[in-house]
Amino acid sequence: MAAAGTAPLKKYKLVFIGDQSVGKTSIISRFMYDTFDTHYASTIGIDFVSKSVPIDRGTVRLQLWDTAGQERFRSLIPAYIRDSQVAVVVFDITSRASFDSTTTWIADVRAQRGNDVIIVLVGNKTDLVSQREVSAAEIEQRANEQEIMFIETSAKEGFNIKLLFRRLATVRARAAARRAPRARRSPPAARRRRPCRRWRRARRRPTRRSCS
Ligand code: GDP
Ligand code: MG
Repeated sequence: MAAAGTAPLKKYKLVFIGDQSVGKTSIISRFMYDTFDTHYASTIGIDFVSKSVPIDRGTVRLQLWDTAGQERFRSLIPAYIRDSQVAVVVFDITSRASFDSTTTWIADVRAQRGNDVIIVLVGNKTDLVSQREVSAAEIEQRANEQEIMFIETSAKEGFNIKLLFRRLATVRARAAARRAPRARRSPPAARRRRPCRRWRRARRRPTRRSCS
């Protein structure tokens, strides 16, 4: 519980999606524990871990949900995505097939969350330079078409991993802050009146005085 006078830590749910073996679990492990394992076995069940991330104004807590093998059971994905604020769509830059799949993964997120979600396209395994099948320009183009963020990472080398999470935390917190002042402007429910008919009709710049 937050101490008196201290605002509770903002929590955001991030879901990791993308084909199997693209490095979702490895990205989470690198960020959480600064480790990398070449022999990851997919485990059963959806699990999550959380970590606090400092941003320009304070700290936010990120809850990271990993799909552990459910990528094969797409019917489970909608429930998994449903109440997320951020979707991390990962592919492997050495696998064009995994890049092609991102279109469907992004569509799944949009179908569940509409525009009420931040999506980032992550091209992982940049350390495998000679095996690259997807160029940086293609990734940028896909991200622009879909109007989403993008970044390249290597969980193995730790490249851009901290930056990825810091950016997501910052962008998400800013999006929440943009929404907050509007919420404060609306009066408490008890004081809220049903607008008079003239108010309802006068769509453009209605004034309260005209309704008294
Ligand atoms: P997931 O199925 O998407 O969770 O993928 P994993 O995290 O289990 O990774 C699948 C395989 O790719 C494992 O053998 C990892 O060691 C390897 N891997 C993950 N990230 C990287 C990376 O950045 N570079 C390289 N070279 N291998 C990686
Ligand atoms: Mg995994």
